Amino acid sequence: MPNFVRCFAFIALSMFVIAPSARTADENPMVPPKSDDKDNPFKRQEGAAGNSNGVAPADEGDDVPTAEDLKRDAKKTEDREKKKAADQKKNAEPEKPAAPALPTVCPQCLGHGFMPSKPAAYVVNVGDGKAEASVPWKCCSKCAAATDPKSLIDAEAARLAGAVGKKQAWEQKSGLRFTAVETHHATIYGNVAAAELTECGQAVEQLSAKLQANTGMTFLTASRPGSHEMVFLADQAGYDKMLDATNQPKDALIRKTPGSHSRYLCMSWPKVVIPRKNIAVFCVAKMMIMEASDGKSPAWLQEGFASYCENLITTQNRNYTIAYELNEVKFGGSWNAEVKKLAEQRKLSKWSEIFPISLIGLGPIHYMTCYSMTTFLMTIDAKAYPKMVAMIRDGTPSPDAVEKAYGKKIKDLEVMWANWCLTLK
Ligand SMILES: [Zn+2]
Repeated sequence: MPNFVRCFAFIALSMFVIAPSARTADENPMVPPKSDDKDNPFKRQEGAAGNSNGVAPADEGDDVPTAEDLKRDAKKTEDREKKKAADQKKNAEPEKPAAPALPTVCPQCLGHGFMPSKPAAYVVNVGDGKAEASVPWKCCSKCAAATDPKSLIDAEAARLAGAVGKKQAWEQKSGLRFTAVETHHATIYGNVAAAELTECGQAVEQLSAKLQANTGMTFLTASRPGSHEMVFLADQAGYDKMLDATNQPKDALIRKTPGSHSRYLCMSWPKVVIPRKNIAVFCVAKMMIMEASDGKSPAWLQEGFASYCENLITTQNRNYTIAYELNEVKFGGSWNAEVKKLAEQRKLSKWSEIFPISLIGLGPIHYMTCYSMTTFLMTIDAKAYPKMVAMIRDGTPSPDAVEKAYGKKIKDLEVMWANWCLTLK
């Protein structure tokens, strides 16, 4: 791939390392508690049916049996045999409890409890937020029709009352001074130019609006300001202070990379100069997919979704994620062009290889395959994609979730995908 290699020197990329989650989902006031009533309420009562060994008590006495006795004995024997057969059947097939009801997931919101309301873009300085404008959705008309819409505004008012305090807490922990904006789906702090943070916030708003419009749901955009935070640091000293503030060990891999992310917090400093809005979209997308999947998104899904979102909003790909070991991967300029080239050369990875993949030591072909899989799945049916994510959240293995959500076998989807990759520009 000579062209692929030649591009290296011109591409600036930002690596992100995964950091452990620091918080629980319960802190988000807008996310309804997920039902944990998944246990089978029925417990088989083992041994309750009892046993019969079928042995009749021995007859006593020496009398010769009469015809009546024989008839009576024959009847007794017949009854015993019937009882024995019935008991054997009962033991062999213990009474089955009625099938427990499957956890019912609302088909309209997949359990999120909300639906899109197409709010006006919301990017304001932390401290200037207005409760009504910051409500990002409306209650689901199927499963939350009885909820008072005003409760959403009240929840925002409560959240906004603590927003400045959260910023001050980060400043106190890190010893840094931050500018901060909030959007419908994240708070973005930084000791960088305020205009850049606003630009990042606008890009994140574009992302959530597009995802909701394409999927018809809020399910993939469940992150919220206050609980989901992004921090831009101007230099390595600031980054190190934030790492100290979050108790990262001195020898952590996270200290060698220009960024890190977890389900609730992403940090970045400009080791390489790339537009911050690329980083913001990539990182918030990561938090969104982790939130939608309740922290269960596998690597192929996280990485594919984040790079899909980055390209959707910026038409570029400048970010990728590593784990456990420093892995500086070189990419070509346009991922779409690279995917097409790899498809022509039949070099893209097999889906069966990508589904169980971890983020350790991946090469460009793996990242490109993840990116193109999500882009393909969102392109052929964006409404099926959140259903797939919901099934993964509920414990379905990725291949089964893809097949069920898209109604096609993996091998057939893979053929469609390979042909679709050839059409990329
Ligand atoms: Zn619903």
